[in-house]
Amino acid sequence: MDGSLGTFVYTANPARVIFGSGTWGRLPDEVERLGLKRVLILSTPPQADDAQALADRLGGRCAGVFSGAVMHTPVDVTEAALEIVHERGVDGFVAIGGGSTTGLGKALALRTDLPQIVIPTTYAGSEMTPILGETAGGKKTTQNTPKVLPEVVIYDVDLTMSLPRNLSGTSGINAIAHAVEALYARDRNPIIDMMAAEAVGALADALPRINIEPGDHDARAKALYGAWLCGACLGAVGMSIHHKLCHTLGGTFDLPHAETHSIVLPHALAYNAPAVPDVIERLKRVLNTDNPPLALYDLGAKVGAPRGLKDVGMPEDGIDRATELALANPYWNPRSLEESAIRGLLQRAWRGEPPVIE
Ligand code: NAD
Repeated sequence: MDGSLGTFVYTANPARVIFGSGTWGRLPDEVERLGLKRVLILSTPPQADDAQALADRLGGRCAGVFSGAVMHTPVDVTEAALEIVHERGVDGFVAIGGGSTTGLGKALALRTDLPQIVIPTTYAGSEMTPILGETAGGKKTTQNTPKVLPEVVIYDVDLTMSLPRNLSGTSGINAIAHAVEALYARDRNPIIDMMAAEAVGALADALPRINIEPGDHDARAKALYGAWLCGACLGAVGMSIHHKLCHTLGGTFDLPHAETHSIVLPHALAYNAPAVPDVIERLKRVLNTDNPPLALYDLGAKVGAPRGLKDVGMPEDGIDRATELALANPYWNPRSLEESAIRGLLQRAWRGEPPVIE
C-alpha cells in the first residue's frame, strides 16, 4: 500500500466470476443455478458458430441464438433482438464475444430486467462495468446504471486464443488505460489501486509474449486476468484526460477505438505525470522502468500498435479542433488543462513521437 489511507468510498459491483480454462463448459450449471429455462444466446456474426456451440450444449434450456450484435450497440439491433425475446418467452441472456456483444446483452437487460451471463472473448472489460453506450440516429449516448451489470461472468482463456495478434495488443493496451487512469482518479481508493497496479503488471508482461506467440496459453491467461481487473477499475471510478481525448478523437474523426487508446495513453500519462508523482512511482515499480510513459510507448511498439494518430486516419488540421473539444466540457483531471500543453501532446501523438514530460 502507498501513502496514508485517508477516507474513501468503494462500491463493489456484484458479479459471480468464474475464471479458467475450459470454463465455458460450466454454462449449463450456471444457467440452472439462476433458474433459467429459456435463454437467448447473443454474438456478433463472425462468432455465430461459438454461439451455436453454446446452444447445443444447453439443449432444451436454449430458446434461440441471435448473432446480430454490432459495434456501438445500435438501438434498432436491440429492438430486433427484443422481438425474439417476447416471441419466445426468453428468461435470460448469454452473451459470448467482445464489448459489442456484451453491449447488446446490457441493452436487453436494461429493457427487460432479465439476468445475463457474459462470456468475454476480448480484453474490452465491458462485462465489469455498469456503463452502457447506445447509438440511435448516428448519436451515441452513455448511461451508468447497475441494471446493466451481468449476474455471472465466465472467463475462459481457451476462447481468447483466436483473438488476432494486433487486436490482442491494442485491446490489451486499451484495458491498461482504464487501470492507469483509475490510479489517479478523483474517487480513487486503495482497493481499486491494488487491482489497477496488478492489472497493469499482468498485461504489460503478457501482451508482448502474445505478440511473439499468440498460442502462449499462460500469457493469454495473464492477459485475460489483467483485462478483468481493468474492467473492474473502469466500472468503479471516474476517468480523466486520456478517456476524454480518446472519446473526442474517436467521435470527431471516426478513429478506431482500441488503436486510438494505444496511441494516446503514453502522452496522457506524461501530461499528468507532474501532478501525480505517487502514481508515477507506483508505475515505475510495476513496469520496472524509470519512465512509465515511455515504457507504455515502447509497449505499443512491442505489440505492433500503430504509432501515430496520422497512421489511423486523423487529419493534421484536426489537431486544433481536437484541442478545442478536449478543453470543452472536460472530465475531472489531476492536472489543470493547459491549452498549449494539450496541443503539444496531440501534435506528438499525431506524429507518433515519444511522450514528453513537461
Ligand atoms: P468487438 O466486440 O466489436 O469485437 C471485435 C471483433 O472481434 C468482432 O468481429 C468479434 O466478433 C471479434 N472477436 C471477438 N473475440 C474474438 C476472439 N476471441 N477471436 C476472434 N475474433 C474475436 O470489440 P471490443 O473491442 O471487444 O469491444 C468494443 C466495443 O465495446 C465498443 O463499442 C466499445 O465502446 C464497447 N466497450 C464498452 C465498455 C463499457 O463499459 N460499456 C467498455 C469497453 C468497451
